[in-house]
Formats: sequence, structure tokens, C-alpha cells
Amino acid sequence: MKITDVVSHVLQYDLPHELGYSQQFYTRRTAHLVEVQTDEGPVGWGECFGPGNVALANKAIVEKVIRPMVVGRDPVDREVIWHDVYNALRDHGQKGMPIQALSGVDIALWDLTGKIAGLPLCKLVGGQVRERIPVYGYGMMLRREDPASLASRFKNEATAIKDAGFVAAKMKVGLGARDDVRLVQAVRDGVGDVFRFMVDANHCYTVADALYVGRALDSMGAYWFEEPVAPEDLDGYRELRAKLDTSIAGGEAEFTRWGWRRLFDGRCLDIAQPEVCALGGVSEYLKVVAAAHTHFVPVVNHVWGSAVAVAANLHLLAALPPLPGGLHPTEPMLEFDTTHNLFRDELLEEPLDIAGQVARTDGYAGVPAGPGLGIVPDRGFIARYRIE
Ligand code: CA
Repeated sequence: MKITDVVSHVLQYDLPHELGYSQQFYTRRTAHLVEVQTDEGPVGWGECFGPGNVALANKAIVEKVIRPMVVGRDPVDREVIWHDVYNALRDHGQKGMPIQALSGVDIALWDLTGKIAGLPLCKLVGGQVRERIPVYGYGMMLRREDPASLASRFKNEATAIKDAGFVAAKMKVGLGARDDVRLVQAVRDGVGDVFRFMVDANHCYTVADALYVGRALDSMGAYWFEEPVAPEDLDGYRELRAKLDTSIAGGEAEFTRWGWRRLFDGRCLDIAQPEVCALGGVSEYLKVVAAAHTHFVPVVNHVWGSAVAVAANLHLLAALPPLPGGLHPTEPMLEFDTTHNLFRDELLEEPLDIAGQVARTDGYAGVPAGPGLGIVPDRGFIARYRIE
């Protein structure tokens, strides 16, 4: 079997209302799907992390830079292709968009390899450790409203996520340290005293502000504090980890085994959040997980994007070995965006229906059956939302 074409589909629609996190507000949702076609019929699907115009730039890298290196090759040669592409692009970007673009192609090659082998991705990467994956709901995004009314919105939303059956809830912060502590208190009030909740700063703090917020999180029993400071600030991560009780999580903005090595060597994280659609695809994700386990850092994947990304992550989380082992190990969780997302809910011929699964099982989702990612994107849906 030979690869005959690599096509990027960039999809976009206007959200019903603006959403925000600590870095920006946005009104459109974008998804970047990668389709690898073969001479014998099967196609593989992947996804590249990167919203808005970043998706358009990544599409150019996929189609103009990577495609010519990949057409004519055997799709099961995933590692060979990965290293050829990485070596060719190394001088032009060891992080960021070239690696995001490579990620989507690599995921599609794994999907194809599963279809060729007749095995689901979770079996292909080592086997199914767990039948079902606990799911946490993230929501509680920023809005352009005053802090008091946002806090009351967050409180209601936190209660709703808990009542929907999710095993935990994650909120955004980013108004400034003092107002953020009030938002966190509202979420704690909304979910009650024992329910697990996490706080995502999207690297908006200085170390001093992160310590101020982090001490409040310690007293309120937050489960983790995500991306408190800039991803480049490894010393800041290390200092927060030493001074706070709350687990420090991060890594969604890090790429490849070589980038991740510095986070692990620096003892920067309590919880690693690799993003498979950004860091280099499934091939590289497996190496980052191995590095995490080498340093005894548990992994809870970062998940963003369409049903393609969600399906890939369900397989990878199903196959993730417990760390450390035991009768009652701490299980990884699927990150699930509870805000409006047609690309997650309606892209597939048979939707994953994560929210429905969570409601029926009190917080869990199963792995899509079938070879590869186990999904079939609806071509009519893609044609309807494709902008380029
Ligand atoms: Ca995050």
C-alpha cells in the first residue's frame, strides 16, 4: 500500500456566544483535520492542534512541505516518516507549527496502520489497560462581564458540570490574582466540599501572583493548578512546585521528547499534560509518556479539538499504564470541553456522544470500536464547514 495524497480540511463556524481564557476572547471555532489517502482505498484521519489562522498556516505546512515527503511511501512506516520529516524541518522549527502539522499526519498514519492491521489504536500501542475512562468537564470560560456576575455564572456552571455526571470540573482564571481567587471560591461553592476541581491559568501569572492564587488553591483543596506561569519559565514551575501543596500541571505547549525532557529533568510538574495533536503525534506521544514514567510523573492528556482528537485520546488513555501500579491506582481522565462544539458533536457518522455516556455511567466514556481510531467522519459535514 502506498500513500497517494495528504489533504488538510480546515473547518470553522461562528460560536453562539464569545468565549475567553486568560490570553484572548474568541468567537469562532476552528478544527484542522488531516486525511491521508492510499492507492488501495483505506484513508487515515488525524488532527492538528491550532485554532484560527494558525490552522491555515499549518495546512500550508501539511500540504506544501510534508505532503511531498510522504506521497509514495508505505503508511505503516510511521517512525521512518516521522524522523525523515523532523530531520528535514529541524532547522526551521523544533517546536510549534511544524510539529503541530507533523502531528496530524502522524495520527492519520496510525489510524491507517490500525485499519491495515485490523486493530484499534489502543491495542496497536500496547493494549487496553482500562475498558472505560473517567471524564472531567471543562467549562467556566471567561466572559466580558464584571467579576461578580462572572463568579455567579461560574458557580452555576460548576454545579451543572457536577450534576451532568463528570468526575471533576475545570475552570479558567485570568482576571487578575485577587478576582481569580473569588472565581475559584465560587466554583468550590458550586461543586461542594469534596468534588474534584482544577484551575487553568493558561500561563497568565508571574510567580508572585501564582503563589498568591496557589495558596488559596491549597486552602480550597483544588486538585491541580494548570499552566500557572509561562511555559518557558521552568524555574518558576520548579519554585511553585516546591512552595505549593496543590499539584502543578502543564505541558500542553511543549513539543517532542526533547522539549519534554527539560520539564522532567527540571522536576517542573506533578502532572504531565501532553497534547498528541501538537507535540508530534502518536509516535512522539508514546516517547513522552515513557519519559514521564521514567521520572514517575503521572500523565493526564491535554485534549482539544474535534471528535478526531477526542477519539485518539480515548485510545491513548485506555492504553496508558497506571503510575504507580496498585489495587486502586489514580486513573487518568479524559479532558472534555463542555462548551458549544459542533466539530466534537456532529463530525462523525456515529457520534462519540461523550456527554451522553457520562450521564449514563456517572462519569465514564468507552473507546470507539473498530480498527485505527474507530471513527468515520461525515464527508457532508466536512464539506458544509470547510473554509479551506
Ligand atoms: Ca489548559
